[in-house]
Amino acid sequence: MNRKKLMEEAPKAKKPVILDGRKLRDIGCARLKAEIDKSGTKPTLVIIQVGDVAESSAYIRQKKKFAEKIGALVHHKQFPDSVSQAELIAAIGKFNHDSSIHGVILQLPVPARLDKQKIIDTIFWEKDVDGLTSFNKKMFESGDKRAIVPATARGVLSLLRGYGISVSGKRVTVIGRSALVGAPIATLLSREGAAVIVCHKGTEDIPGKSRAADILVVAAGSPHLVTKDYVSPGQTIVDVGINSVFGEKLEDEIPRKKLVGDVDFEGVSGVVGAVSPVPGGVGPMTVLSLFENLKDSEEVLLGGG
Ligand code: NAD
Repeated sequence: MNRKKLMEEAPKAKKPVILDGRKLRDIGCARLKAEIDKSGTKPTLVIIQVGDVAESSAYIRQKKKFAEKIGALVHHKQFPDSVSQAELIAAIGKFNHDSSIHGVILQLPVPARLDKQKIIDTIFWEKDVDGLTSFNKKMFESGDKRAIVPATARGVLSLLRGYGISVSGKRVTVIGRSALVGAPIATLLSREGAAVIVCHKGTEDIPGKSRAADILVVAAGSPHLVTKDYVSPGQTIVDVGINSVFGEKLEDEIPRKKLVGDVDFEGVSGVVGAVSPVPGGVGPMTVLSLFENLKDSEEVLLGGG
């Protein structure tokens, strides 16, 4: 048998379903725009930025662009790197009491000398549209329906739902347990009826725990941590990680930065049933979720929720 025939007869690696967050975001965008047009009000968000980290500025531009598309307003308040914690808290206090503002978020990261959780905790929970204040998180963990679902967690669930993947009764492994990302994802999926295992840096046999899951969610912030040794046939993989790494050198020999996830997308693609890309997976869904939260908060604050 010649080589060509052999290649034709070799079982072809099945292509996984790509969980396309951009497509779902665009559908959600049209839905939100229609709701906002109908309501005749303008949900208004304040984004607080400290310094000018290039990635943060890029995320803020994305949020402004999305807001423009749906007819919401974004006020971008940028403070110098030298801003004090007290100044930030005072600014948040002002926005808390301004009835024309329906959501306030602190763009992360902030310089390490600032206590980010302490600053976030001064946002009124009704305006905490990232869902990251300790008060909101406590309400969320206790199952209080009024709690604002942290935007990244809401984005992960919407991405799965958008592709008809139910989490109820499924085995879910979440790699990463940070208070702002991994832990809320685990809480939400568990609330939705999944049996959730949470892994962190000190967990033994993460590849085994990952392979045993129906759905693997990775939020570790470690580029290409999840290789094909971590996955099993038919699984769904949701990659939350966003890591900026140096890519190829172009003709001018200057290596360009590029974004990669926590999952080796190419490596797992021949094995799993569905996988979300980075960029273009959870990231766009997080932006959509932030503005869904903003719309919900506006309704509650205007007394209609
Ligand atoms: P973090 O550093 O605060 O927490 C990382 C967590 O992962 C910790 O619990 C740590 O124990 C665990 N971890 C790290 N390396 C590990 C390893 N090798 N094995 C097992 N566990 C490991 O980071 P974070 O703020 O939770 O963010 C995680 C990732 O999610 C980052 O890449 C961040 O950029 C990304 N992120 C994405 C979105 C989005 O919308 N897609 C939103 C927020 C954060």
